[in-house]
Amino acid sequence: MTHPKVGILGGGQLARMLALSGAPLGLRFLVMDNVADACAGQFAPMVVGDYRDEAALTEFASKVDVATFDFENVPAESAHWLSDRVTVFPNPRALAIAQDRLAEKTLFVELGIPVPPFAAIDTREQLGAALEQIGTPCILKTRRLGYDGKGQFRIKTPADADAAWEALGAQAGKVGLILEGFVHFQRELSVVAVRGREGEFRTWPLTENWHVDGVLSASLAPASVDDAMTQTAFEHARKLAEALDYVGVFALELFCRDGELLANELAPRVHNSGHWTIEGSETSQFQNHLRAVLGLPLGDTRMVGVACMLNWIGEMPDALPVLREPGGHWHDYGKEPRAGRKVGHATLRADCGQALAQTLQRVGDALGREAQVAPVIAALAR
Ligand code: AMP
Repeated sequence: MTHPKVGILGGGQLARMLALSGAPLGLRFLVMDNVADACAGQFAPMVVGDYRDEAALTEFASKVDVATFDFENVPAESAHWLSDRVTVFPNPRALAIAQDRLAEKTLFVELGIPVPPFAAIDTREQLGAALEQIGTPCILKTRRLGYDGKGQFRIKTPADADAAWEALGAQAGKVGLILEGFVHFQRELSVVAVRGREGEFRTWPLTENWHVDGVLSASLAPASVDDAMTQTAFEHARKLAEALDYVGVFALELFCRDGELLANELAPRVHNSGHWTIEGSETSQFQNHLRAVLGLPLGDTRMVGVACMLNWIGEMPDALPVLREPGGHWHDYGKEPRAGRKVGHATLRADCGQALAQTLQRVGDALGREAQVAPVIAALAR
């Protein structure tokens, strides 16, 4: 197939970076989004329409050779409908499981992957009973359609139960709820992995992540984790990929508590904690996702040196302090600034941890982002 056309459902920064990384391979893209100014539209033609709109989906399907996602909350029915008309990776079953925190956690348990205690919640009575069983602190979350800490309520003491139900109870009948024990983790880690059409499986080096208000703030790779724990994390990811017959890139988010790994969630797409791979590894997550869905050989996931990604949320800071760094790389997603919105990121690369810590200190000071870089610098000193 010369110049195959890849369709991407969802036109945000992930679709934009997929399109950019596919250009050298001679790929063409078509992006579908429900808003006309989605930022991937600056680089790829778009079909604008609701993900449930059959006419828009028909147009999309008729114009692409393979379809994939930048957005995991595309309705599962739409993914199924599409898969009857065009090759879709990851497959709709994998997408449906990853969309539902309860189905996802149930699969983790079936595969022997440890998770925090959890319970399905559909009524206020079930919340009361589950609170007694799981104890506090804990987190009430929507089963579906939540992301970046949205659709979550932290319950510190049993007295918060009414407030939690007030905040999320209305969602119980729509998307369902799940109560999870709060994990007092020391670190958050993610495995970004790729599986090809023939079952070939690769992982990038384990990444350590820091969140602020449930949103990713910084990532560091490689995470300094011993070999045994790294292998356990990779094996969890491999088992999941095989159980789901997954094709493409995905991320498995893990909590590390007292030397034990607990799975939080599976993101069925390229992932924010893998953005550092663009400059920090031989083959980026974006290019390997495209290679996987097109049945091309996967690229090497080895990294060179150490890398830290800093997310820009709400508005872009001054680019110059990053651009002045020898290992500084800037990504502006071309979005309008808006509170809480991911508008860009920077990746800082260096040959060793000490040099990276110095770079982060300079960039953090110059941008007034001392608090954002501080935990990464502390981790590099461990
Ligand atoms: P999520 O949307 O589930 O990925 O949650 C976003 C962030 O909230 C996670 O990366 C954690 O920092 C925090 N979080 C979510 N669930 C838990 C939990 N059960 N225990 C502790 N922190 C959590």
